[in-house]
Amino acid sequence: MRFAKRMSRLGTESAFEVLARAQQLEREKGIEVIHLQIGEPDFETPRNISDAAIDSINHGWTHYSAPAGIYETRAAIAEYYHKYQGVKYDPDQVVVTPGSKLIMYSLIMMLAQDGDEVIYPDPGYPIYGSVIDFCGATKVPIPLREKNEFRLDVNELEKLITPRTRLLLINSPENPTSSVLTVEELEKIYRLACDHDFIIMTDEIYSRIMYDAKYHSIAKFDTKQDRVVVADGLSKVYAMCGWRLGWGLMPKEIAAGVIKMQTNITSCATSFVQKAAIEALLGSQDGAEKMIAQFKKRRDFIVDGINKVEGFSCYKPHGAFYVWPNITKTGWESRELAEYMLTELGIAALSGTAFGKYGQGYLRFSYSNSIENIGKAIERLQKAMPSLIKEPVS
Ligand code: PMP
Repeated sequence: MRFAKRMSRLGTESAFEVLARAQQLEREKGIEVIHLQIGEPDFETPRNISDAAIDSINHGWTHYSAPAGIYETRAAIAEYYHKYQGVKYDPDQVVVTPGSKLIMYSLIMMLAQDGDEVIYPDPGYPIYGSVIDFCGATKVPIPLREKNEFRLDVNELEKLITPRTRLLLINSPENPTSSVLTVEELEKIYRLACDHDFIIMTDEIYSRIMYDAKYHSIAKFDTKQDRVVVADGLSKVYAMCGWRLGWGLMPKEIAAGVIKMQTNITSCATSFVQKAAIEALLGSQDGAEKMIAQFKKRRDFIVDGINKVEGFSCYKPHGAFYVWPNITKTGWESRELAEYMLTELGIAALSGTAFGKYGQGYLRFSYSNSIENIGKAIERLQKAMPSLIKEPVS
């Protein structure tokens, strides 16, 4: 089959590949794999949201909506954002999509082209680099380093900016490191965007999953609302990954472009899911709050446990549901260790290099699994690692 050339530039997300391999091992070899690879909450969608969706189906919300989304849903999103981030947007600045991925895809495709540069975090969500490559622009990774608790270094960012910089992608809490940018850093980043005239996309999909620090959005500095695009969605906070509902809050001019993209790609997000989103965002938050409290317990448990594994050391993050242990003292390369853990220890985690070259020396564990299963994985690692330690790679 002859594919268009651009297809060779499209990347993927290895969490899905590891899931498929783990399931194959379970099927064919009968290995009991503990799944710590996927970025999806293991909780049920809260009942009030599912009921709202069923009710919407029963009331005929089964047709196309406007490509931008149902007006009440857009208004609910604006209200929600104001409630949690203190920033007011007009419903006309909201575009509802089947998952927040569509916001980032549309934005990159709309704004960047050959000769433009897009700065994005490394290690970072693999789809960023993939779509930048796909659209023909140049990828400019900004390294996230352990000495800065995996937050980007603003001075380093400044050095990467050129007259060709079109777009900066930030993600806080970040996937895979779970790092959280400080309000001071966000303000400096925003100033750089103004001074050098580029757009910022802030991926806020984990912004509600915070434990012991307050979340700040860069959107609050964008008082003219002409430079920042917020991408968010129901997937993580409400355990609704499979429902596919995301949105963006953005300058009106950019919204017109995203709506045009959506008209070409999906027409609109599923109408009864859009209706259920109103209940999710403005109805009872009990389900989300209980889940976040569980995640906090698991974070403490997994960080403690991993720090007792020989050769591993793990920073305690303030948000999201990933841990990002440093494994350099084991002497293993990340990919090699992830592979060994999957096939020999029955633990599915991701190699740090799946998130970019600065992920070498790290693994990503998602703690979207029960304390019991996380405990089993840690036990297996604690038992196995002492005899696996190699001479450290320099
Ligand atoms: N951004 C980040 C950083 C993510 O980790 C994910 C999902 N893994 C997404 C966006 C995609 O979310 P959605 O389901 O809304 O498309």
